[in-house]
Amino acid sequence: MASERREGEAGLGGRLLGLPGVGPRTAERLAARGLVTRGDLLDFVPRRWDDLRELTPIGALQVGLPQTARGRVLSARILFGRRRSLEVRFGPDGDDEPAGKLVARWFRASPGMKERFAIGARFLVAGVVREYRGERVMAHPETERLADGEVGSDAGGGEGGQGKGAVGVGVRARYPEVEGVPGRLIAELAARVAREHAHQVVDPLPPALVAEHGWPTRGQALALLHAVGEGGEAPDREAIAALNEGRHPAQQRLAWEELLLLQLAVGQRRVAVAREAAPACPVDGAAIERFLAGLPFAPTAAQRRAIGAIAADLARASPMHRLLQGDVGAGKTVVMYAAAELAMAAGHQVAVMAPTEILAEQHARTLGPWAAATGRRLALLTASTAKAARAEILEAAAAGAIDLLVGTHALLGEGVRLPRLALVVVDEQHRFGVAQRAALRGKGGGALPHLLVMTATPIPRTLALTAWGDLEVTTLDELPPGRSPPETRLALGARARRPAYLALGEALADGRQGYVVCPRVAALGDGEGEGLAALHGDGEDPDTGSAEATFRRLARALPGVAVGLVHGRLPAVERDAVMRAFEAGTLQLLVATTVVEVGVDVPAADVMLIEGAERFGLATLHQLRGRIGRAPGVGGRRALCLLCSDAAPGSDAARRLEVVAGTTDGFVLAEADLLLRGPGELFGTLQSGLPSLRFADLRRDLPLLQSARAAALDILASDPALASHGALRAALASATTAPGGG
Ligand code: ADP
Ligand code: MG
Repeated sequence: MASERREGEAGLGGRLLGLPGVGPRTAERLAARGLVTRGDLLDFVPRRWDDLRELTPIGALQVGLPQTARGRVLSARILFGRRRSLEVRFGPDGDDEPAGKLVARWFRASPGMKERFAIGARFLVAGVVREYRGERVMAHPETERLADGEVGSDAGGGEGGQGKGAVGVGVRARYPEVEGVPGRLIAELAARVAREHAHQVVDPLPPALVAEHGWPTRGQALALLHAVGEGGEAPDREAIAALNEGRHPAQQRLAWEELLLLQLAVGQRRVAVAREAAPACPVDGAAIERFLAGLPFAPTAAQRRAIGAIAADLARASPMHRLLQGDVGAGKTVVMYAAAELAMAAGHQVAVMAPTEILAEQHARTLGPWAAATGRRLALLTASTAKAARAEILEAAAAGAIDLLVGTHALLGEGVRLPRLALVVVDEQHRFGVAQRAALRGKGGGALPHLLVMTATPIPRTLALTAWGDLEVTTLDELPPGRSPPETRLALGARARRPAYLALGEALADGRQGYVVCPRVAALGDGEGEGLAALHGDGEDPDTGSAEATFRRLARALPGVAVGLVHGRLPAVERDAVMRAFEAGTLQLLVATTVVEVGVDVPAADVMLIEGAERFGLATLHQLRGRIGRAPGVGGRRALCLLCSDAAPGSDAARRLEVVAGTTDGFVLAEADLLLRGPGELFGTLQSGLPSLRFADLRRDLPLLQSARAAALDILASDPALASHGALRAALASATTAPGGG
């Protein structure tokens, strides 16, 4: 973790071992958390600041929130159970406080621990309050003994206390836990290191930029976080609230620095790709118009715009890297084929990759007639292509006798050679990453093909600018005429489920095809679900969320309906067989897990019931719903989506579902999903090799992100290799190799 920019700097590179309170044992424990040098500790920032003037009285603690309370020890005892635990009860500190008790509990307590909690002693107790058997409990809280008479200002009382230093005027910095090291000691060490070494921290940001924004330097910002108010006046309430929400100028400055590094990394990737050679395919308006004229419909304005943007990209001799996003049914396939046609008209080959075999087959069926009409040779290559046919296709592809090769990601595999490859299209997979892109290089003659990634999952702006920052984005923001998104109805509670199933039954009786989507394969209690059963406990019917149980139930209840079951635990062959039967109409109702999210495309299906809807993310629900109503409504009917949930009306979960029912705009939902669930997984899987974010929050910091992006573009425009930005270059190098701390 010791970064290069710190090495050789006397002081910051110095060890923590030997500082007051840090013996070999403690040093070892700190090192286990990556804290070896003083610089490491300076980077280890508090996660919370407690205002000792604003402590919560014991009687006013709220369940579910992290809080710091002040109280007096009422009793302390060791419970000799399976895990010997220490239980300390705290009561109000003063007579004027509201009544109430707090139970603090430590498991596997050492006998000596009890001695710290003398009856009547005053303590700060910090942690998250839980309700347990009618009592309010904190498990393993941080505690700190207060001297008699001490209210807010520090008297350096607690164990491990080294006197004044850890604490500014009435504010306690709370650090992430380091096993075996008291939080108080860490606070004292960090404050000391900040005092003695913060001025030695190299600021990666050019001084002009820092001055322009009126920010503290990196060292000043870090010092402020470790020693709030030290040496100055006490920070006001607003400043502490800002710190706890990450809005304080010191944190925003550090966030901006992170975002700048991220944008520089993304920008450099972009520059690197732009330097590669790609086959230029001149814009051939006649070829495009010939293709479009053969369609039974006129393209939408959005489709024309997208085709125009892609055509301009393809005409360049550097690789296109473009994301085409548009709700399900927006007509991405037409845009994709127009792009393919441009490449083929220029004498090149095209590869189209779909996430499942069935989708690859469907593409081949859609594209086949178009290819025939424009005189292009198309082939489909999947795992189930017969051996002889496969050999033939591979040979023809290598000889340049196939213009358009459709398949799954197996197209990236060994043995597939497309010497004149100019364009790769990846459908329904926005997670197609940097690594896969590299694999494309070898496919063609050495040049990097143009890349078009298509997705129906809209990407919120912040993510588009970060994790996808090296992609150009085109949006199909218009559905073909006459297309209306499904009507979505919310069925909350067990009683609403009946009418929902009745509506489904009616649609089936009308001969319509539909899906029932469940969050789990097996019933709760069938092994995997057991933990969940315990969690959900009360009242929930353990079967409703299970695809298997729902399948059995519906097959019994709907004797006239052919019901199928598909989920990820079925062998691929069986799964495909079921999906094919559904596609062919042999099955009328398909009970499924989220495997149908991108796996199948059945235009005739126009009803969907989703069980346990609260278990899915908003974007997933929207994507699932997009599976129905893909064809212009049969007989003018509108597709119907029923969201069943046990969420209590008015609960957060119910409100999320109302958002889904209330809008058909995928972008609104994607933004809402980001706000509610955070960028976690989505960002995480995509950012590999990019700097991690500790201070910036993509939900909050869009303006910071935009400003950092502008600055990064500015810097790269004049200095793409960061040759004259040494400190920035070093920070970027360490941020993109070392995993972020904290
Ligand atoms: P998606 O964006 O989900 O991939 P598709 O490309 O599968 O959408 O298109 C959905 C349906 O809409 C297809 O049947 C397609 O032929 C039809 N379609 C595409 N563009 C238009 C248009 N401009 N007018 C009418 N129908 C269209
Ligand atoms: Mg599609």
